[in-house]
Amino acid sequence: MSSIFTKIIRGEIPCYKVAEDEKFFAFLDINPLKKGHTLIIPKEEVDYIFDLDEDLLAEMMVFSRKIALAIEKVVPCNRIGVVVLGLEVPHAHIHLIPIDSEADVRFSNPREQMNEEEFKDLAERINKQII
Ligand code: 5GP
Repeated sequence: MSSIFTKIIRGEIPCYKVAEDEKFFAFLDINPLKKGHTLIIPKEEVDYIFDLDEDLLAEMMVFSRKIALAIEKVVPCNRIGVVVLGLEVPHAHIHLIPIDSEADVRFSNPREQMNEEEFKDLAERINKQII
């Protein structure tokens, strides 16, 4: 069975897409720790990030950088935190989270409440900043 993220890539489950290329897909986390919290996934469905082919993993980080630089331009923050957990969804993903302090990346924190319009607008604004 396909992962929920593969279904998102295929458009079978909706998401707020930030960007995609041939190999990767970026979209807003539906339960953001901070506004702009974005997930980067490979289109190839592999559960554990360190099972990815070496080259693909390196390319995933380069793609993540591109998106992180765009998020920074839209969301005021100290920097973009990079987190990998993978405990919930068995499809490798990198969390990009705009942070001001260490406390901002605690996954036990209450999540940001955002409506559909806010999500849509944010995804579009980040997309426009990608170089
Ligand atoms: P992890 O697997 O790294 O522990 O966490 C998975 C992350 O994916 C969580 O932050 C969760 O909010 C996010 N997530 C889970 N299901 C969906 C979904 O259907 N859409 C989106 N946009 N994010 C999801």
